[in-house]
Amino acid sequence: MNERGFHHHQSDILVIGGGLSGCWAALTAARAGARVLLLEKGYCGTSGVAAPAGPGHWWVPPLPGAREDAVKARLDNAQGLGEARWMHRIMARTWQTLPDIGRHYQYEPDDSGRIRLNALRGPEYLRALRTYCLAVGVQILDHSPVFGLLRDKAGRVAGAHGAHVQGAHGPYRARAGSVILATGGCAFQSRLLGAANNTGDGHLMAAEAGAQFSGMEFSSIFSVVPRNTTMSRAMIYSFARYLDEAGQEIAPDAEGQSFLGLARALSRGWVLCDLSAAPETVRAQLPLISPNVMLPFRRQGIDPFRERFPIDLVGEGTIRGVGGIRLKGENWQTGVPGLYATGDVASRESVTGPISGGGAVNAAWALSSGCLAAEAALAEGHVSTGELEPFTDNEACSNGKNGSDSREKTIRKQIQAVMLDAPTQLSRNAGNLRAARNALENCHDSLTHSTPEGSWRQRQQRRETQALLAVARWCTASALERTETLGMHRREDAIAKASDVPAYHVISSGLEHVQSRREAVHT
Ligand SMILES: Cc1cc2nc3c(=O)[nH]c(=O)nc-3n(C[C@H](O)[C@H](O)[C@H](O)COP(=O)(O)OP(=O)(O)OC[C@H]3O[C@@H](n4cnc5c(N)ncnc54)[C@H](O)[C@@H]3O)c2cc1C
Repeated sequence: MNERGFHHHQSDILVIGGGLSGCWAALTAARAGARVLLLEKGYCGTSGVAAPAGPGHWWVPPLPGAREDAVKARLDNAQGLGEARWMHRIMARTWQTLPDIGRHYQYEPDDSGRIRLNALRGPEYLRALRTYCLAVGVQILDHSPVFGLLRDKAGRVAGAHGAHVQGAHGPYRARAGSVILATGGCAFQSRLLGAANNTGDGHLMAAEAGAQFSGMEFSSIFSVVPRNTTMSRAMIYSFARYLDEAGQEIAPDAEGQSFLGLARALSRGWVLCDLSAAPETVRAQLPLISPNVMLPFRRQGIDPFRERFPIDLVGEGTIRGVGGIRLKGENWQTGVPGLYATGDVASRESVTGPISGGGAVNAAWALSSGCLAAEAALAEGHVSTGELEPFTDNEACSNGKNGSDSREKTIRKQIQAVMLDAPTQLSRNAGNLRAARNALENCHDSLTHSTPEGSWRQRQQRRETQALLAVARWCTASALERTETLGMHRREDAIAKASDVPAYHVISSGLEHVQSRREAVHT
């Protein structure tokens, strides 16, 4: 700690975010002999969206033709946005590296006695990743939200600043040769399972350093949860039928992908879910494979396979959406010297196209992007020297008193009213998008950018509100820019068909003024 009350940390590689991707990045760098610091807003080992889930990974053996077939299937759905070589890279790295977790994770055989190396129980997987990180010498600082990035005199990202909000308590500066952002996607604090910390902080930091975004229009995806719960694990709903209050079945949407019919029915009243078609084997295995899925039912005294139960929809934003920081380079570089972006904070269009990578591709991307970015950062071998300064003037020096935060609470509610309104997000048009943009610009005008004050928690919350708003503005600007329906982005006022327009990415950027533009896909 120095005279200004800052804790100082130094490492070769700084990883921000200790979820699936951050842990793989940190342990890869540490195994290669680097000094690694991992800063986590919550508690590494329980936070991030994989911890309460059961992540399956894209898992294709290197048998003749197998990966080519898998890539072809994915490219067919990617509608011009996918890239075969990125898909091959993440499949190969996942196959090579994932079994390493067996050093700290207890695999269990399935009913046929087979070990499924690619399907892990989230809570134990993340606990094992933490144990693995510590075993190879990663320094983990929990409850230490990062507020912003630091740059050196040459403008290279060379660290981060934030506050330890538990234990050592107080502001910190962390210097590093390179920084890997692994702060996850943003679900606008819907009640998506495990996503409370996923407020877009990394997107905001990256934008302040000059990064851009791609594919932010692919952020309109919703999941079913039992009403008044956060249980958004999706597998069981593949057997579901939905009925309105009058007992009328709600027909699936034409393309069978979106929940627009459910969203519209929910805006009129209750929707009931019927799981009676779930096979006996699934019913028997569910409590073992996904123990937490049954908890909300048990608590409410519902047998979900015999009784119909009310449901709701929760927004997933960019988590099981697609968009994020635009990558510029082969190894998850962001175009900002010294800064890498991995996992859900980065755009995954190259491996998912405009449809979700949830279920297999996202976890493979999180793992392999973490490993490959860490190796690239190490190969760069940059050593940070000289004075550092923050990119913006939001660095916190001392803890203050709790002040009123009613204005921010109101702004958060306004952001959510725009981004989590399922009927309009699932059926976008120029009118509702312009109304969304105006509402968000009003929020931007009223959100204070003054020097931070208040307690650490309040400063953290202010940063989160700024981040939520920034992500919402990029998503909305990008959705306005793409005037056709493509993947999860549905424009009910589309004139052209996506297949009639040469494939392009929507690039968004800017904080004070948000911009969006099209960029043709290079073939
Ligand atoms: C319910 C559910 C089930 C899923 N199942 C699957 C599946 O079966 N297969 C699949 O491929 N994908 C699945 N996914 C997606 C997959 O879990 C994610 O792609 C993956 O977890 C992304 O990892 P990540 O490290 O990028 O982000 P996260 O796991 O979300 O981790 C981000 C971390 O950054 C931290 N953080 C955020 N801001 C800050 C800050 N300012 N300072 C410090 N730390 C910060 C957070 O606390 C968090 O720990 C699922 C997602 C959900 C929601």
